[in-house]
Amino acid sequence: MSARGFRGQVTLDGPSGTGKSSVARAAATRLGAAYLDTGAMYRAATVAVLDAGVDPEDAEAVARVVAGARIEVGTAADTERVEVDGTDVAVRIRGAEVTRNVSAVSAVPAVRRQLVDQQRALVAAADAVVVEGRDIGTVVLPDATVKVYLTAAPEARAQRRAAQLGLTTPDEIAGLAADLRRRDEYDSSRADSPLRPAADAVVVDSTDLDREGVVDRIVELALSAVGAGERA
Ligand code: C5P
Repeated sequence: MSARGFRGQVTLDGPSGTGKSSVARAAATRLGAAYLDTGAMYRAATVAVLDAGVDPEDAEAVARVVAGARIEVGTAADTERVEVDGTDVAVRIRGAEVTRNVSAVSAVPAVRRQLVDQQRALVAAADAVVVEGRDIGTVVLPDATVKVYLTAAPEARAQRRAAQLGLTTPDEIAGLAADLRRRDEYDSSRADSPLRPAADAVVVDSTDLDREGVVDRIVELALSAVGAGERA
């Protein structure tokens, strides 16, 4: 089924492990919209910081390195393009080292300003777009057409992440749950653009919904916001 009547921006914010990325891509495809993964941009910035050999907790050095890095992401829903200074880092940004350090890099205000400007320019170039992140509805696109905040119980999020990574032992799952909690805590308590739902966001809890159920809900919200119907 396709739904081509949508024009505007859908923001999809929320913590890690809610299935946000796969839901965002699927919703973008159904809506015939572009897709922007802002987490991939912060992860790419983290690759630049690690490669420069600076301490991710050193805000000044981080800001300097990221200011000099060319971070490029694609906006097609069916392919992933992430580059730093022309090098493909799409696989590397999902690695443990980047995941461990990305919250520190993304807490630096100068990094956020730079990437938010870039995000707004990419959004402005699209008639229809689904944008995924942590602060999209609150900071990046406060006037978005539809804002969704996707959440799920922490145990469900750890289980989902474990399945993606092929981890099965209770210890491994407990380790993932601890990492999710650490990143949530870091992202929600930082001074600049903390993770939280926008006042006008629709909160969708995916604990007991499968992926298709969540995508249906987002597509429905997007189409009803612009008065369009879904066509087969
Ligand atoms: O979504 P993903 O897990 O790839 O995001 C990685 C990290 O990037 C998050 O934990 C958060 O620290 C940061 N991020 C952010 N603002 C966004 C998107 C991601 O601070 N809009």
